[in-house]
Amino acid sequence: MTFSSFALDSTLLQAITESAYDEPTEIQKQSIPLILAKHDLMARAQTGTGKTAAFALPIIQKILLAQPCKPMLRALVLAPTRELAQQVHQSFCHYGQFTSVVTGIAYGGVSTKKQIIELKTGVDILIATPGRLLDLLRTESVSLASIDTLVFDEADRMLDMGFKDEIDQITQCLPKDKQTLLFSATFADDIYKMSKKILVNPKMVEI
Ligand code: AMP
Repeated sequence: MTFSSFALDSTLLQAITESAYDEPTEIQKQSIPLILAKHDLMARAQTGTGKTAAFALPIIQKILLAQPCKPMLRALVLAPTRELAQQVHQSFCHYGQFTSVVTGIAYGGVSTKKQIIELKTGVDILIATPGRLLDLLRTESVSLASIDTLVFDEADRMLDMGFKDEIDQITQCLPKDKQTLLFSATFADDIYKMSKKILVNPKMVEI
């Protein structure tokens, strides 16, 4: 299997060529077609397996297909820590480098000012930590009304860090009709509980 078999936009294939990836990793082979087919997904994968590209590539592809004339917030990726949010943001910027898709980032511990300006200027994809996103929602600096794809990256760490209430509050601000992707290194009981509440008929991928 090659990346060309996913029917991804040529701009994405160009970014993959630049990354010098020979072929998709297992998590990418299994997840990309399911995400492009708009299924909800529960995927068990550790860091280092190529999981970020497994959701970043099909999310950018979906936005390219919608052909927005200006940025509109379509996808939200929740990450437990600032470091992971930054890594995921870098990956989206890298895979989307030959597109006009704009990816923003919001995490705590720094002033909200720059993040609010970025949001007002317009982003298609937002990578955020739960606490900071809630701050931005409370001050009405961001609206999640147009989100059609939601990703939980490292969902187990998010729950371990005590973000359950924040996750509940954020999901209440999101449209009901959306595609949800949950990536986690482990599938413990609390992850199944969370998925039952949030995901609809999810496909399972375990590598
Ligand atoms: P992740 O699991 O998303 O943290 O990715 C781990 C590393 O794998 C990153 O440095 C990626 O650049 C790299 N990577 C992602 N997809 C592939 C691939 N298909 N082939 C080789 N390396 C990859």
